[in-house]
Amino acid sequence: MKAKLILSGLCLLFGAWLPAQQTYLHCGKLITCTDQTVKEAMTIIVESDKIVEVRKGYATAPAGAKVIDLRNRTVMPGLMDMHVHIESESSRSSYMERTSLNEADRAFKAAQYANRTLMAGFTTVRDLGGTGVNVSLRNAINQGIATGPRIITCEKSIATTGGHADPTNGLNRELMGDPGPDEGVVNGPDEARKAVRQRYKNGADCIKITATGGVLSVAKDGQGPQFVDEELDAIIQTAKDYGMHTAAHAHGTEGMLRAVKAGITSIEHGTMMTPEVMELMKQKGTYYVPTISAGKFVAEKAKEEGYFPKIIALKALAVGPQIQATFAAAYKAGVKIAFGTDSGVSPHGSNGKEFVYMVEAGMPAIEAIFAATVTTSRLIGMNDQLGTIEAGKFADIVAIEGDPLARIEAMLNVRFVMKNGVVYKNE
Ligand SMILES: [Zn+2]
Repeated sequence: MKAKLILSGLCLLFGAWLPAQQTYLHCGKLITCTDQTVKEAMTIIVESDKIVEVRKGYATAPAGAKVIDLRNRTVMPGLMDMHVHIESESSRSSYMERTSLNEADRAFKAAQYANRTLMAGFTTVRDLGGTGVNVSLRNAINQGIATGPRIITCEKSIATTGGHADPTNGLNRELMGDPGPDEGVVNGPDEARKAVRQRYKNGADCIKITATGGVLSVAKDGQGPQFVDEELDAIIQTAKDYGMHTAAHAHGTEGMLRAVKAGITSIEHGTMMTPEVMELMKQKGTYYVPTISAGKFVAEKAKEEGYFPKIIALKALAVGPQIQATFAAAYKAGVKIAFGTDSGVSPHGSNGKEFVYMVEAGMPAIEAIFAATVTTSRLIGMNDQLGTIEAGKFADIVAIEGDPLARIEAMLNVRFVMKNGVVYKNE
């Protein structure tokens, strides 16, 4: 007993004496995202999970400090994707899996998707809808049990009966039952409030609603509005009360307009966004998360016989190809754009393709990188901790092979990933 006490006392003593382990990252090119310049020959000093200093030149590391050589890389803040579904990935068997998978099956898959996402350089993601496995996965990652990005999750999306995120759409009457606020299905403001409070209780960080119909639900309408104003007000106000921001899936104009007027934080997809909606979004400071990747993916797969049920293929062909043009118009109009892919529709780990689509549609590469770092950190209210490389921020740092400002496809060549000061990849 006594020996044990002495031992723990010694550990405390040495713990206090030993300086914290530092890591020196020598960066050939550095985009800190504190401004739009690219700095050359720089050193980032990391101590435990934080950046403590950014210094000019390749600083000599003191004895005991680790040095990581990124002199032939472009280094930037960890990337952030504001729209993923970390629990699932679409395939020919997706519709079968709705009824055949157990939670544990989902969890094993989700852990793999999370790992892939982190290796692609995405150190933070916002998960916009699953079954609740997303909450467990977030916790497991935070506890070091699983490997993946920092996850901000809405747990389960909130829908109206028969709406896009009603989990029983397309099932037979026996399986359909009558889902309610517990399952994220609401009718009227009281149920809407209950559903938000239930998400909070279940461990959600934010709230997602399906403001209009969607492509991948087994329902015929992809665009009509699905909430009335009283329901939207109840959801957004309750979410605010509970310290959560809100995101609205929206394709059609009317549903988008209602959500923006009610004070939603971000519009997802935004397919039929008119100049009127864009103007209102600018006034209200609403973010736009485009998910061009999802549009491209579903439009392509809809042409493959039998990939989607017919009812879905028709919607995919109508909605998919339009998102990139909407993005181009919204960017020109000056709407705030936050990077998001809808990965889970498109494969996890290819999130970086969105950069290529954004630049293709007219956004300069440096702005696309800002959209995935600075803007995203503001959207989730973590801009004091994430989004740039500067002293005091979490050490979320990635390194790219090549120069993404010259050739945006380089964003797919992530060779180094650090999250919270821990190196997960170094090729
Ligand atoms: Zn989605």
